[in-house]
Amino acid sequence: MDGERRPIPDERIPEKYKGVENIQSFHARANYDPVATAARRDEKFQSLITKWNYTFGFASETEDPRGPHFDENNGNAFGVTIMNLEEMEFEKDRDPPPKWGMWTFIMLADAEPLFRDDLNDGERMGIEWAIATTIVHEITHAVGNISPIDAAEPNLDEPYFETEALAELGFGMEAAVSLNPLSELYFTLMITGQQWEKPILHRQR
Ligand SMILES: [Zn+2]
Repeated sequence: MDGERRPIPDERIPEKYKGVENIQSFHARANYDPVATAARRDEKFQSLITKWNYTFGFASETEDPRGPHFDENNGNAFGVTIMNLEEMEFEKDRDPPPKWGMWTFIMLADAEPLFRDDLNDGERMGIEWAIATTIVHEITHAVGNISPIDAAEPNLDEPYFETEALAELGFGMEAAVSLNPLSELYFTLMITGQQWEKPILHRQR
C-alpha cells in the first residue's frame, strides 16, 4: 500500500462520479523484495500499536461503537475498523489534547457460537476461519488508514488495487490470500456495477 498511487483513468469512471476527487489505484512494486516488504510490514504494525493505539474488541450487532448515529450501518458487517476522527477534530483544544486511536471490533454474535460445547470439529473450524478472515480483513483496513505514508493524519480514501473493480482493501487482501473472499458482497458489487458506490461511502465515514 506504500507503492505508487495512480489516478483512475477517466474512461473507468461512470458519468455520475466524474467529479469525485482523489480516486486512485495502488500497485505492486516492480522489484518485489520479500525481506524489505516484511520489514516495512513490521514497521506498520509497530506504528499501529505505538502511534495509533490500535486496539481490538468485540461489538454488539445492534449498537455501533461509534455511537447511535451509526447504528443503522451496523449489524451487516462481520467487523469494523474505526478511528476517533470526531474526537480529534472537535476536542483538539482539550488539555491535554486527545490522541489518535484506532479500533477493530469483531461482532460478538459471530464469535459466540464458540462457547457452545456441542460443535463438531468442522463447525468449530469454520467459525474460527471466518473470524480469522475478518481479523485479516480489518487489519488490512487499519494499515490502509495509515498508508501510503505514516503521516500525522490518517488517510481514509480507499484506493483500488491494480485494476480491481472494487475499492475495498479488506476484500482485496482476502482475494490475494485465499483467491476466494468469503463474503458475497465483493462479487455482488462487482457484477452489479455498484463498485463505484464504495469510494463514495468511504468518504462519508
Ligand atoms: Zn472492508
